[in-house]
Amino acid sequence: MTDTPRTVKLVGRIFLTFTIEAKTGLHIGGSPGTLAIGNVDNPVIRNPLNNQPYVPGSSLRGKMRSQFEKDTGSPQNNSIGQVTIHTCKEAEPYQTCPVCRTFGIPGEYPHSETSRLIVRDAFLTEASAADLERIRTDLPFTEVKWEAAIDRVTSAAVPRQQERVPAGAKFQGALTFSLYSRADLALFDNVLRALLLVEEDYLGGQGSRGSGQVVFVDPTIKGRSNQDGGVLQPQPEKSFKSMVALAEQWPELRATWFQDLD
Ligand SMILES: [Zn+2]
Repeated sequence: MTDTPRTVKLVGRIFLTFTIEAKTGLHIGGSPGTLAIGNVDNPVIRNPLNNQPYVPGSSLRGKMRSQFEKDTGSPQNNSIGQVTIHTCKEAEPYQTCPVCRTFGIPGEYPHSETSRLIVRDAFLTEASAADLERIRTDLPFTEVKWEAAIDRVTSAAVPRQQERVPAGAKFQGALTFSLYSRADLALFDNVLRALLLVEEDYLGGQGSRGSGQVVFVDPTIKGRSNQDGGVLQPQPEKSFKSMVALAEQWPELRATWFQDLD
């Protein structure tokens, strides 16, 4: 018996851009030793080309997923390195799982599909980079926050440094969601919900101690379908003030933009 090759047909895409604004200092960790500047204890991750801090797409995507897993009460059953995530290891629960169908599962499972969600790295906006250069932060584009860590043996307060991108910094974020059937449109609802959940929580490290509050502002969305003989049909883009406003309008947009999808 030979397996029939699986066919994957892209029927449309959704493109979302937004500004990630840090409401508090933001710490997304880099690796000490290779990227550290000025020997700070806990450096932030930087783009080696211009030395500017950025938000890796994997960090935002991972936080969106973990928030959405908690929101849906999905079982944490798959240890990958130091983190445990939810994964539908069998095909049957996978078919109706909002987490796994939106965010994907590791490729080793036979029922895994081509990824729908791509989250891009988010770089400092030009205006934000210029502002941070002008105000001469502790380190290039960042501040150093001192905290007292308590030594558990001696109870002595040990000062510790935390490098953060200052509150007010803005990054240009973007994500793409691929549609392989009309039913996939509803999965994009989960992407918007996950972004709203991240706004309620935090991004990066030290969130319980005040770092990492972000908002996603000025979202702009557009879509295109791949119907009518493969002709790409882009829809005019729509801009909103907030992710909440977009999430409210999205059900209407998806009904009108993608009427022709199979
Ligand atoms: Zn699942």
